[in-house]
Formats: sequence, C-alpha cells, structure tokens
Amino acid sequence: MRTDYHMHTPLCGHAVGAPREYVLAAQAAGLAEIGFSDHNPMATQFDDWRMGPGQLPEYVALIEEARREFPDYPIRLGLECDFIAGHEAHVQKLSTLADWDYLIGAVHYITPEWDVDNPKHLKRWTEVPVDEIWQRYFDAYTAMAESCLFDFLAHPDLVKKFGHRPEGDLMRFYKPALDAVAEAGCVLEVSTAGLRKEVNEIYPSAQFLRAARERQIPIVINSDAHAPAEVAHEFDQAYAFAREIGYTHVMRFAGRKAKPVRIE
Ligand code: ZN
Ligand code: FE
Ligand code: FE
Ligand code: ZN
Repeated sequence: MRTDYHMHTPLCGHAVGAPREYVLAAQAAGLAEIGFSDHNPMATQFDDWRMGPGQLPEYVALIEEARREFPDYPIRLGLECDFIAGHEAHVQKLSTLADWDYLIGAVHYITPEWDVDNPKHLKRWTEVPVDEIWQRYFDAYTAMAESCLFDFLAHPDLVKKFGHRPEGDLMRFYKPALDAVAEAGCVLEVSTAGLRKEVNEIYPSAQFLRAARERQIPIVINSDAHAPAEVAHEFDQAYAFAREIGYTHVMRFAGRKAKPVRIE
C-alpha cells in the first residue's frame, strides 16, 4: 500500500485546502498513510511562502486536529525544511519543537536571496550561466546531505523545474550529491511535482535515479501536494518509473525512523 509524505497546508500561503480534505483525497486514492510537511518557519520573517516565525504551534495543532477527526488513519507529522548554509542550528532547534515523524531537507535557495524554483526570479536565468546555477544548486544539495539533519531529501533535481539544462553529461552535477547521500545513509524523494511544472518530468531524472539505485540509496515516492487534488498525483507513473529502474522497496517514516516496505 502506498503513502504520500509531502503535503502542504494553507499556512505556507501558497497551498489550498484544509488537512481534512487532503486526508479524504488520500483515502479516495487508496493510500495506506500520509504525512504533512509544510514549509518550515525561519527565525525571522524570511519570504512570503512559509508559515510565520511564531506559527509552528498552529501548524502542529492543525495536524493534531486532523488526527482527532480520523483516529484510525495514520497521519504523520513532518516539516519541509530549507537547507540554507548558516541556518543549520535553526533546523536543529526546529527538530526539538514537536514530535516529528520525519524532517524533509530541501534546497530552494542557491544564494541567500535566490530561491531557484521561484518564478519571480526567472529573469536571472538569462543573466547567469545555466552551468553556474546548476553547480550552486548541487553544491547546496551535497552540503545538505552531509549535514545529516534530515530523514529524506526532497525533489533532487528541482533546479530543472523551468526546463533549463546545461550541455553535456549531467552526471558531473549528480555524482557528488549522490555520493554524499549514500555516505550519509539518507533517503531520496521521487516527486511527481515536476510533472505539474514546465519541465514536465518526475524529480529526479532517470539517469539520477539509476545512479541512486547503483548506490543502494532508498527512496520515498511523494506528490508535494499543494491542493487536495494533487495528493497521490501520477503515482502509477512514479511507481512504474521506480520499478523499471530496479527499486523493489520504498521507505515509511514514523518517529524519525525509516523502514522499507515492498512495492506491490
Ligand atoms: Zn510549497
Ligand atoms: Fe520544496
Ligand atoms: Fe513541498
Ligand atoms: Zn516542496
């Protein structure tokens, strides 16, 4: 039975639907369990796409309310944490503030003021070489893996979101990140969110996932739903993709422990 551990709430300001609607959508899609993972608060007001610095208790209460409404359905509590160099201690602090089932690490910021997946910065893609943008992204991803702060790492090649790709073999970007993930014993996310974006491709690419499989890096398959209708989005395609590459298991998360379950 399938799971979906990457789902947002309206607290981040760019997702719609109450948690109960995500639960109903998950049940309708036949998922065995789900988990919420909204964008983490920063220590100060940081940008316009996450809960405010004081809103963590509100977020936890929102998920607890859904748990009360669906007592027989497993609803995990997670958080999608931005990995930004210099903010590691903040993530460490967040990890102590609730009974998390898992923390997701994500690279969105490739400089302190450039969230690479934000369409408001699209013009910068014409000003900075694509190679340099990809290099910054994967350097950050590698550092994120090395930090060992997270239970799994989100959307591995998010930097392709708008369809920009450097010339030549992309393994030169993938390899250091994959080696660091394998070394850290961390789990990678296979995300169907890319199918809803300009690139129209699962995160990560087949080449990336094949290289992850060679390193025996475990995976988790998620939708990154920002609306109830996106829960379990294109999961048949994602599971077929993982199976084709040779994956036989996906990971489940509870109490910050991961365990493999067989893909049917
Ligand atoms: Zn989001
Ligand atoms: Fe993300
Ligand atoms: Fe997300
Ligand atoms: Zn995300």
